[in-house]
Amino acid sequence: MSLLDLAIIGGGPAGVTAGIYAKRAMIEVALIEKGLIGGQVALAGEIENYPGFPRISGLELASKLEEHARSVGLEVINGEVLSLTTRNTVKRIRVDSNELEAKAVILASGAEPVKLNVEGEEKLVGRGVSYCATCDGPLFKNKVVAVVGGGDSAVKEAAYLAKIAEKVYLIHRRDKLRAEKIAVHRMLSNPKITPLWSMVVRKIVGESKVEKLLLEHVVTSEAKELKVDGVFIYIGRRPNTSFVQDVEKDESGYVRVDEKMATSVPGVFAAGDCTSPLWRQVAISVGEGAKAAMSAVRYLESLA
Ligand code: NAP
Repeated sequence: MSLLDLAIIGGGPAGVTAGIYAKRAMIEVALIEKGLIGGQVALAGEIENYPGFPRISGLELASKLEEHARSVGLEVINGEVLSLTTRNTVKRIRVDSNELEAKAVILASGAEPVKLNVEGEEKLVGRGVSYCATCDGPLFKNKVVAVVGGGDSAVKEAAYLAKIAEKVYLIHRRDKLRAEKIAVHRMLSNPKITPLWSMVVRKIVGESKVEKLLLEHVVTSEAKELKVDGVFIYIGRRPNTSFVQDVEKDESGYVRVDEKMATSVPGVFAAGDCTSPLWRQVAISVGEGAKAAMSAVRYLESLA
């Protein structure tokens, strides 16, 4: 087994950007991805805020990321990272039943929105079901949408969507929101937003796009149909960092980094959504991926 200079874990915008920068620095690099290149980007409907691409579908941007990775000759290893050992100078990465060794590692494993796990959700992702109001909200101009959740994300994104959509329903499973008081106050005084308390979504209905939601009251079990054009699910997010043990993480599992994207372990860097729950944007992940790669190259030079 040859020793890599750099192993990048995750093939979303952060990981691919890091790979492109690493290839240009002419180091031995491989990127490990368990799914398709592009990561969560592929789930976004239309993306209109990534500079240089006034309007591009998530799938198309994901395929452009893959094309770019291949064009620079970035080696992509398909597999799931099960563990990472970073105690020694040489880092060991278990990928399925194989083991890789690298002098440096960039964690770019992203985060996943928590799913409702109801019928229709998976089928209609990108066709009315969304986990990102900033990405997909503008597609619902003057339409009716629902937001599910009662935390800061749901409340803030409902207020954001009310600027675009004709009507926003906020569906929450309790009658009390956990979001910041001021954000709740603003949301409740917005005439375009109607909260639906103590309701859960039982089914998302639609053939080629979302048409309606089937709701149920948690106390009375009363069923309700709600016609909507889209549903934004904000019931929390989880970073994909369970395989990371030696590196310092916050209480939610996000990897702690400094301004150079360095983690608590020398030679291990992190970029993109696995580092923070805030401002999850392609543009930010790309910038962080570039920074992480440049820091990794500096680190490798310091070893020589
Ligand atoms: P969160 O605070 O964990 O809230 C998740 C919400 O989804 C809760 O209201 C929860 O209901 C609900 N929920 C969970 N599972 C559900 C299910 N299966 N069905 C229906 N509802 C479900 O998540 P978040 O809003 O994404 O925020 C994550 C962290 O980021 C928080 O610490 C938040 O303060 C922070 N954040 C901060 C800002 C900011 O601008 N300051 C913005 C966004 C996020 P219950 O309330 O009943 O548990």
